[in-house]
Amino acid sequence: MAKQDYYETLHVSKGASQDEIKKSYRRLARKYHPDVNPGDKAAEERFKQVQEAYDVLSDAKKRQVYDQFGFYSDNIPPGGGGPGAGAGPQPDMNFDSFDFSEFFQGGGQRASAGNSTGGFRDIFSNLFNRGEAPPQQSPEKGEDLEYSINIDFWQAIKGTQARINITRYEVCPTCHGTGSAGGHTITCPECNGTGSVSQMAGAMRFNLTCPKCGGSGKLKNACPTCQGEGRIAHTESVEVRIPPGARNGSRLRVPGKGNAGSMGAPSGDLYITTRVEDHLYFHREGDDIQIRVPVAVWEAGLGAKIEVPTIDGRTLLKIPQGTHNGQKFRLREKGVFNARTNQRGDQIVEIAIETPKVQDERTKELLREMAGLHPEDPRADLWAKV
Ligand SMILES: [Zn+2]
Ligand SMILES: [Zn+2]
Repeated sequence: MAKQDYYETLHVSKGASQDEIKKSYRRLARKYHPDVNPGDKAAEERFKQVQEAYDVLSDAKKRQVYDQFGFYSDNIPPGGGGPGAGAGPQPDMNFDSFDFSEFFQGGGQRASAGNSTGGFRDIFSNLFNRGEAPPQQSPEKGEDLEYSINIDFWQAIKGTQARINITRYEVCPTCHGTGSAGGHTITCPECNGTGSVSQMAGAMRFNLTCPKCGGSGKLKNACPTCQGEGRIAHTESVEVRIPPGARNGSRLRVPGKGNAGSMGAPSGDLYITTRVEDHLYFHREGDDIQIRVPVAVWEAGLGAKIEVPTIDGRTLLKIPQGTHNGQKFRLREKGVFNARTNQRGDQIVEIAIETPKVQDERTKELLREMAGLHPEDPRADLWAKV
């Protein structure tokens, strides 16, 4: 039966108001009513069509669906000429009860936003993508795991051993990953052997391939330890050796220590990221160590040999006469050992000139004397360039 145009049937325009629709319906219903046309089959047919058209167009939700897709149905038989067939092959759908008005209540934005005729396909693919993962029938590599470990500055410099608890899936020791206890198969409890399961989405109910048995309806006699998973969660303490010179954010890969794969597939890897706490004075810049060292005015002015801290302990640094604030000195190979390059970085010492506490008269006297000896403006350079 060809689909009728409900607007044509009711003799109204597409943009007709509910009032116009109602008026026109009443007029046509009176005209074709069986009581008025006894024995007239054509009139009876028209009367039914008018009823059907009015049923849809008088309901805002149904009318919206009709406007978008060109038809409306409360009940579309499985595999029939309904939207399922038009939308191309879909996995085992049974439109047992397919109420669009319900459906669009849930996904209303979709319905009103798009008006392409491909709408159904979009809606269905969306629905299915949102649903269960496809049945797992092929072996899959285990997932990688990410953990991080916190160590302090010195542990990073010198290297350390640390323990972390890692929860990972490992191959089931009972079934060695097969998931089977051996012997014969049992009926899949998920689908009771039918191979498909029903799923509800709003008022829609459709059948999907059973995710547990992959549609076969049968399961291998499941291993009692892992319930057929082939792997079990297990927390273990892993000792991690942090090499000397480990950097903040460095990532250590432990091959094969991620989750076990399914059905005997290889395990993923374990990644451990090292987080290094800051030190109060030593700052790392790659393999170099930076430190600001306070220096007295007279040490800087006259030159001096000063002791500075390094990661190896104290070391002597000779600062020349006339050293100024912020000047940097490099102590070669006093930085962090890099196991990769087999070399050490440097230590960079930044001079921070300290003003003496001026409390006594004698110090003031000496400073005034110095001022007399140096009448030049310390900001002369600044003024020249501003
Ligand atoms: Zn097992
Ligand atoms: Zn099943």
